[in-house]
Amino acid sequence: MKILRLALVLGAVALVSGSQLQAWSAEGHRLTTVEAVTLLSEELPGFLQENLDRLAWDSIDPDLMRNSGLPQLRDREAPNHYLNSELLEDGQLPETRSEFLRFLGSQEPSLDASQVGTLPYSVVEATQRLTLSFAQLRRQLADEHLQAKVMISAAYVAHYAADLCQPLHTTIHHNGRALQDYSSPLTGIHQQVDDLFGRLQPQNENSDESLVPRVLKPIFPAVVEELERSHAEVDKVYQLEGNLVALEAGGEPSSGLRSLTRDRYRASVLFTSSLILTAWRESADLKIPDWGLPELPPTD
Ligand SMILES: [Zn+2]
Repeated sequence: MKILRLALVLGAVALVSGSQLQAWSAEGHRLTTVEAVTLLSEELPGFLQENLDRLAWDSIDPDLMRNSGLPQLRDREAPNHYLNSELLEDGQLPETRSEFLRFLGSQEPSLDASQVGTLPYSVVEATQRLTLSFAQLRRQLADEHLQAKVMISAAYVAHYAADLCQPLHTTIHHNGRALQDYSSPLTGIHQQVDDLFGRLQPQNENSDESLVPRVLKPIFPAVVEELERSHAEVDKVYQLEGNLVALEAGGEPSSGLRSLTRDRYRASVLFTSSLILTAWRESADLKIPDWGLPELPPTD
């Protein structure tokens, strides 16, 4: 296995962090969540579809947790939304958050989660939390409390999955090309990309190719691959910067911008859907101790 190394020598630099930023805005998160869960309507229990608006509403909660009035929660939550990929050289990311944090702390000078981000870990951890919620639900499908737990868990998966598919959440160039000291020029491009789903409504465009969710197994490398696909679009985003500015001022989108928007929308939907499907299927075999299962109603 190749050992992960830092790609850049970091001195006392003003490292960029995407902690102030949303991905896809609240409307974008809701749109992708609705379509992702709808894709699974034949396989998942029906209450998910029936309560889709509420589930989609919950998908913005992880951004609300970055509220400056909740400083400890914000400190813990903010790195979950991005990964500054350029800071890491080739080599495999360790599979757990703890190992990754140890790696960052062992660098000279040492780094922390806020400087690099922990997005792939938040995606996998949220999916595994949903697996656990599904496993409890399978025991008692009609229990409304367990259904509510599943909806909240699924909403968080949807949030982090869609963040990962926003290319500017995978890069040090998250809001304009990073400056020499790696700080951000805060050009506003991040918000312009966030607003694309709401502005261009890609869910209304027909496509010849239908989206088919699949089980992602093993999950960690599949999440890293999806992150790499998203990161590969960073240069394209910057090539379209002029059009993004014009669009914000009321201009028309180019075909390239429409195509990028459609591609990222479909990636967000398919990735979210695949993660939820993975959690559902895996939950069938997850062993839970008796004390972690709901009591079944007495049988006559
Ligand atoms: Zn986010």
